[in-house]
Amino acid sequence: MDGNTTAAGSHHFIGNRWVASSTGQTIDVIDPSDGKAFAKIARGNAADIDAAVLAARSALGEFFRGDWGRMTATERGRLLMKLSYAVGDHHDELARLESRTTGKPLKQGRADVATLARYFEYYAGAADKLHGDTIPYQAGMTVLTLREPHGVTGHIVPWNYPMQIFGRSVGAALAAGNACVVKPAEDACLSVIRVAELAADVGFPAGALNIVTGYGAEAGAALAQHRGIDHISFTGSPATGTAVAQAAAKHHCPVTLELGGKSPQIVFADARLDDVLPVVVNAIVQNAGQTCSAGSRLLIERPIYDELVARVGHAMSQLKVGPALDDLDAGPLIRQNQLQRVWDFLSRAQHDNVPIAAQGSIVEHAPQSGYYQAPTLLRDVPSNHVLAQEEIFGPVLAAIVFDSEDEMLSIANGTMYGLVAGVWTHDGARQIRVARKLRCGQVFINNYGAGGGIELPFGGVKSSGYGREKGFEALLGFTTLKTIAIKHG
Ligand code: NAD
Repeated sequence: MDGNTTAAGSHHFIGNRWVASSTGQTIDVIDPSDGKAFAKIARGNAADIDAAVLAARSALGEFFRGDWGRMTATERGRLLMKLSYAVGDHHDELARLESRTTGKPLKQGRADVATLARYFEYYAGAADKLHGDTIPYQAGMTVLTLREPHGVTGHIVPWNYPMQIFGRSVGAALAAGNACVVKPAEDACLSVIRVAELAADVGFPAGALNIVTGYGAEAGAALAQHRGIDHISFTGSPATGTAVAQAAAKHHCPVTLELGGKSPQIVFADARLDDVLPVVVNAIVQNAGQTCSAGSRLLIERPIYDELVARVGHAMSQLKVGPALDDLDAGPLIRQNQLQRVWDFLSRAQHDNVPIAAQGSIVEHAPQSGYYQAPTLLRDVPSNHVLAQEEIFGPVLAAIVFDSEDEMLSIANGTMYGLVAGVWTHDGARQIRVARKLRCGQVFINNYGAGGGIELPFGGVKSSGYGREKGFEALLGFTTLKTIAIKHG
């Protein structure tokens, strides 16, 4: 399958077979670079989710005697390693699929394939290093804990980084011995379907990894409320995260939520601006700002405010936006309503006299029917303004001035979100003091890791969600702990 074909994409992948939607309905896949349909996916519903859960359950088997359920951790790790190599072998095909469907520049699509392969590699190696403990207890007793898979795990994946988010979640779940049912986003999922096919090719037993495509309100909602699901991992918007958690709560199913962010890049006057500049610009332009951990607020200490705003503005004015496969600095946004959302925020800036300090440009040959937005730097944004509070999910950076560490902390912590923060200073005491007071899941000092660091536990506080993906921590989240207390005298 490549970016131009529709062959397998119009089917679910259940039990290692292509399965049409039970209603036979499909959804058009739109290329955001020109707004035209170029493929179809199956429009899944509750019956399709039922079939996928059944396939996953039979892969585990009664008392874990199924083809997948009885595999040792080492065998699971070996399969994941084979899948990592298979992803590498299909690097170009997967990168093109990812770029064509999401609109991201090809270099970003390629980076996402490499990250996907690395997730499978990491969790392949970790699979047989995951174990329980023994606990000192009463005389004549031995107490041990077992790390067991939840069973059938559900994974709801968004459109902005389909392969990366699929890889981090499914890689850890499979390593821990779960069987997975994945509902990728309706806008961009061709890459994920292809990777599931590769998993079958390298020997994953039927039902270990199943993909049901479709709309969130249909296939997604059916997955979240399905009583045969033992754990749900959701990445997406706070509103949908709430709906998923409420549906799962009705059958007491544990949930991991990775939601949005309004992450601050905090630059003190002693920072090395040559180091800061490219990282700050990349952290908002990567994926056209459609990154949950985008550095979308730029908090600058007053003595360097004008200089840094001017330098970031100059760098952003050089940026070129165009079709994904042109491989420029940024591609289009995912769809028309996402573009409209960004325009609404920019209208608000104009209405409230928030100045635009700089904008990049859209190349002339970019199709009018594509969803393009020039990277934009807003300056002097009041910290309580909607532009400094809400996730825009586009290439719009809000510069905010601060005068003291305490003022900075109240601005940085003063949104509903708490995902990531970047701190730029060479004062060692300040680095650790500030890092400890920031309310978020990750702090980067003199660097920034939007989307990166597969080894690093990732997730949020407040409305950015709960639970952790990535790193070894994610493996623990995909297990349940059983305590066994033995009295032997
Ligand atoms: P979304 O919440 O609309 O969709 C995410 C996924 O949920 C999609 O697969 C969608 O089909 C599904 N879905 C939608 N409604 C559903 C329902 N009622 N029940 C079950 N599933 C449903 O979000 P989006 O528009 O696709 O993504 C943008 C948002 O996601 C942004 O707010 C962004 O910050 C957030 N996001 C967060 C992370 C993270 O790791 N924290 C990563 C990517 C995106």
